[in-house]
Amino acid sequence: MQRIREDVPIARRVSRGAKSRELPIGPVVLSVALALGTGLAALFLLQDQISQGFLAPSLVAGIDVKPDQFGRLLGHFPYPQAPGDQLVEIAPGMFLQADAAGAYEQMRLAAETDGVELRLISAYRSISTQKQIFFDVKSERNQSAEARAKVSAPPGYSEHSTGYAIDIGDGSLPQSNLSVDFETTPAFYWLQNNAQRYHFQLSFPLGNRQGVSYEPWHWRFEGSSDALKRFQPANQHEQRGV
Ligand SMILES: [Zn+2]
Repeated sequence: MQRIREDVPIARRVSRGAKSRELPIGPVVLSVALALGTGLAALFLLQDQISQGFLAPSLVAGIDVKPDQFGRLLGHFPYPQAPGDQLVEIAPGMFLQADAAGAYEQMRLAAETDGVELRLISAYRSISTQKQIFFDVKSERNQSAEARAKVSAPPGYSEHSTGYAIDIGDGSLPQSNLSVDFETTPAFYWLQNNAQRYHFQLSFPLGNRQGVSYEPWHWRFEGSSDALKRFQPANQHEQRGV
């Protein structure tokens, strides 16, 4: 109750009142110029990353659609494959970038202390593995590339190829693995409240701007400058539509 009473004056202080009508023109013009400048800078940075090959938009054999001006293909941003020497094995047959692996292990242990069993379902995937997953399942389900891309990234466009993305399940409720039902599990509840402490964030929340289906199980590590650079275009797009 104490906390609620403390929150009220803060909320009132930031609420818009008569002051907003008294804003002089100068600061308004300055804010618009700053916003435009930030948008342009973000666009140049993105183009710079594309031209340096840091983001490498490319055509995918079997998909007729071309990447858009931001390098996105069917809503997914391009991601390079992590160098093999940067990957460490975190569970049998599952690999992550070393810093993401360390953070995940700390997060898993903290959850365990709270009585929650996080279970790693998928981690790093090479571009060729992603190719198999994308096209084999597309064929099995008789789907178009567009329909398939709603639930799986085309090869060269998966966060899993960076070695920073993971799919997490609840060890006590395996039937919810890779299903939207995962959002009702203790593991998801725990992650929502704690994952950012370990630099993990949900990549495809409900109603995400990328247009990818809601994936409560898919989290990406953003706890290093390299990881942040990788996901900067996706974050900017989600936050500002750039
Ligand atoms: Zn995933």
